[in-house]
Amino acid sequence: MIQSEFEIIQRYFVDSGLGFARTGVVLGIGDDAALLQLPSNRLLAISMDTLLAGVHFPAAAEPALIAQRALAVNLSDLAAMAATPLCFTLSLVLPESNAAWLQEFSEGLLGLAKKYACPLVGGDITHGELSITIQVQGTVDPEKVLRRVGAEVGDRIYVSGFLGDGAIALASLGIDSHLGTSFALNEPQPSESCTAYFKQAYYQPEPRIELARACASTMTSGIDISDGLYGDLKHIVTASGKGARLRVNLFPYSDAAIACMSAENRQQAALYGGDDYELCFTVPPKYCQAMEQEALALNTRVTRVGEITQGSEIICIDASGSELPVSTKSYDHFGNH
Ligand code: ADP
Ligand code: MG
Repeated sequence: MIQSEFEIIQRYFVDSGLGFARTGVVLGIGDDAALLQLPSNRLLAISMDTLLAGVHFPAAAEPALIAQRALAVNLSDLAAMAATPLCFTLSLVLPESNAAWLQEFSEGLLGLAKKYACPLVGGDITHGELSITIQVQGTVDPEKVLRRVGAEVGDRIYVSGFLGDGAIALASLGIDSHLGTSFALNEPQPSESCTAYFKQAYYQPEPRIELARACASTMTSGIDISDGLYGDLKHIVTASGKGARLRVNLFPYSDAAIACMSAENRQQAALYGGDDYELCFTVPPKYCQAMEQEALALNTRVTRVGEITQGSEIICIDASGSELPVSTKSYDHFGNH
């Protein structure tokens, strides 16, 4: 069934309920632009990410999962600023007008959009190779905004959740990794429960919105981990004009990661993999306890993995305190891929 652009918008993006009402959204889908009303004491936070078929997901992936990943990675950027989601826009490039695909795609978006009170307020549809661009808007208290700049010597470095699952998920989904051929699962066919776990880790990362909002006043800097802890922490230390020490023996790994990957590959995944969409943030020692309690109350795992130092380098040490050699494998779309 061929549907016109207008029928697609109406059916899958309006009638689907994705454009639900929300305070601050004065006008959503349907006119030439959406209209937003911001509270006078908040800043508008804006972030955009594009997911390309064949690069960020297999073209044949389940549409609901692609949708969830596309929105989740954007929400993760808002979390990394300690912003509260307000709404999002969606630019879709579609190879065909496929009713079943659109239906599942829109249902996939709806669950996450509702969970984070983040309605769809507009977008665009064009014809071409499958690509999904989402732009999220959020609001943030100017006093509590989380930036890459701000880390101080002695601050503890924390991460939320587990490290490495994103990169290990790529391997388990059979997607090529920039980590090279030695980066492989222990068994070519991991157990069903591991496969299911990694599928969820890859397509349904949990944006750490609540953690960042609740703990922002204890954090001096923060970023979301999309390119591996090493590369993303590097952004924090560069912006802050500091160095860092990472203690690889403290890295948190999921049971599935431990079951499916060698210790060395796990560490590669954590440091240089990507797609984890966890937060990396710094906390002065005097606030660590308060932050950890807040995280516990939210049932969100946080793990101290190092500290900010003088200098400008990141060094990695093992349990005995010996320094490990550093690789330059962080993901770069125009670099080493
Ligand atoms: P224009 O030609 O003025 O850009 P469009 O025909 O592209 O208008 O869009 C009409 C309305 O539908 C606008 O409000 C636009 O934001 C909305 N819209 C278009 N595509 C999408 C989409 N993929 N998701 C949500 N809203 C959309
Ligand atoms: Mg348009």
